[in-house]
Amino acid sequence: MTAPAQPPSVGTPLPCREAPIPPVHELKYGQAVGWNCCTCGSRLTCGAVHAGWARGSQGAHVLDAEVWACP
Ligand SMILES: [Zn+2]
Repeated sequence: MTAPAQPPSVGTPLPCREAPIPPVHELKYGQAVGWNCCTCGSRLTCGAVHAGWARGSQGAHVLDAEVWACP
C-alpha cells in the first residue's frame, strides 16, 4: 500500500472530512471533480461527506471546486 499525499500530521490525525481542504491547484483531477476524497485521494463510493470548496484561481479564471471526503 502506498500512502497518498496527506497533510502533515501533528498529534492526532484528523479524519479526512475535518482536515483542511487543500487549494484547488493541489488537487488531482479525480479530487477536483468529486470522485476521490479531497484529503487522502481514496475513491469515494457511497456515504461521501461534503467537505466544502477548494479555492483557487488562475488569472481571471476562478477554479473553485466542490470537494468531498471519506465518510
Ligand atoms: Zn479520505
